[in-house]
Amino acid sequence: NETERLQKVMARAGVASRRASEKLILAGKVQVNGAVVTELGIKVGPADLVTVNGEALEREKQVYYLFYKPRGVISAASDDKGRKVVVDYFKDVPERLYPVGRLDYDTSGLLVMTNDGELANKLMHPRYKIDKTYIAKVEGIPDNEAFKKLRLGVLIDHKKTAPAKAHLLSAERAKKTAVISLTIHEGRYHQVKKMLEAVGYPVQKLRRESYGFLTLAGLNAGSYRKLTQDEVQRLK
Ligand code: URA
Repeated sequence: NETERLQKVMARAGVASRRASEKLILAGKVQVNGAVVTELGIKVGPADLVTVNGEALEREKQVYYLFYKPRGVISAASDDKGRKVVVDYFKDVPERLYPVGRLDYDTSGLLVMTNDGELANKLMHPRYKIDKTYIAKVEGIPDNEAFKKLRLGVLIDHKKTAPAKAHLLSAERAKKTAVISLTIHEGRYHQVKKMLEAVGYPVQKLRRESYGFLTLAGLNAGSYRKLTQDEVQRLK
């Protein structure tokens, strides 16, 4: 699934336009893994060595962004129903980005976007237990009992969640709603919504405020910034 047409890979690496790259292929100037290729249809992946006139293509630069995903956007590179996807916000970035993990369509907040598959896989592995803090607006005002349950772990889909940090940020007595902060390191499907549903306070609105040491500070919904080299090193 990571493969792409040779001429497209060449064009993205800055060799020549796609049309001119096709001509180079037809002229026998291009090799893949040491063999000359003159066919236009072939696909190559990141591990394939492509040379043009004997010179190796520079591999795609690895890039890392912190994105504030708005609500109403799919956490994917494409959507078969034509809905807006996170990659649509990165039209000016030539690299092929994808999100590290997912946020629900109606959830906003922090998403790391990269083309570094190795780091993405590592970060998504449960072994690394990266803390994610969510700010949830809930129906009702959770009592101490509810917070105790959230902290100890609640049963969702027949399995108890790991201990979480949870506390009340504000409450609107008249409207019977509250805003709470919940920090978890697991990443189970709809986990926050299910946890709050399980203790009797359904989520009305959800935002991911932080991911490990990264926060949304300085960003607005729909905007992004590059991670600094130092931040990338800390993630690795
Ligand atoms: N938990 C949820 O329920 N939804 C999200 O998008 C993220 C965590």
